Amino acid sequence: MALNLAAGRRFHYDARRRAGVQYLPPQRDSGKFMARRKKVYEGKAKILYEGPEPGTLIQYFKDDAAQSEQAPAQGAEGKGLEGKGVLNNRLSEFFMAGLNAIGVPTHFMRRLNMREQLVRMAEILPVDVVVRNFAAGDISQRLGIPEGTALPRPIVEYYYKDEKLGSPMVAEEHIVAFGWANQQDLDDMVALALRVNDFLSGVMLGVGVRLMDFRIEVGRIWEGDYMRLIVADEISPDNCRLWDLRGLETPDREGQVREPGPLNDVYTELARRLGVLPSNVTHTTKPTLIN
Ligand code: ADP
Ligand code: MG
Repeated sequence: MALNLAAGRRFHYDARRRAGVQYLPPQRDSGKFMARRKKVYEGKAKILYEGPEPGTLIQYFKDDAAQSEQAPAQGAEGKGLEGKGVLNNRLSEFFMAGLNAIGVPTHFMRRLNMREQLVRMAEILPVDVVVRNFAAGDISQRLGIPEGTALPRPIVEYYYKDEKLGSPMVAEEHIVAFGWANQQDLDDMVALALRVNDFLSGVMLGVGVRLMDFRIEVGRIWEGDYMRLIVADEISPDNCRLWDLRGLETPDREGQVREPGPLNDVYTELARRLGVLPSNVTHTTKPTLIN
């Protein structure tokens, strides 16, 4: 009897081992959770895992702050900021789901848990698209425009995705000449970026925040023979420059009227104003086993 039991156990163990099944206890909200998934890429802000179906990926949001020339992470000073990944997961979900809802295609499918979302795998174009509404950072320095100046219209710029080269700005000429995208792609990218700009600007303005500029990544997906461009990566304070417009009318104790400036504690404050802080959300936040 005892012998049979042991043999039975061994059989199951061997069968599992042959099937390549590993027993790793799921760890809540941790990078090790579902460690048997294949890691595709690890960047500064996120880890990408193979998704449950072909053409899908799981994005895991880490706490490390992304550093960007165009829109530096505010309030994080380039260091890991506890809970930032959780908030960016929520914020990116909020913006991408909103864009999907108004017919602006994005890679976002659904959020899986506190730090992960399921997205469509795309072929990322090697240029970031930046849209500027107000001068700040790079454009202020290069062209000598005081920070905070309203631009005559949204300005679209491209930056070649190569950090070793310092992500240099490039013109449409470079993009087409080097075959990174064709003229049709560029027209589609501008249209996409401007729709994202209108949506994001409006949503931000509704909570007293000015969208100075932002940067998006664009990817190609195929539906049969039909190719289209979608918004990929993430939309969060790590790639948006946000200024606070609240409380500018009321003078402070010294009688000074505050000038608009960067939104403080930007991850928490934006999530709070938009009502997407994890504590406000009533549905389950447990890890979801999907493969
Ligand atoms: P990095 O440090 O290179 O910025 P991140 O930590 O931001 O990287 O990780 C995100 C990576 O995943 C980026 O290289 C980005 O281009 C890529 N990526 C984002 N969304 C998608 C997608 N839908 N399909 C394929 N790759 C994606
Ligand atoms: Mg990134």
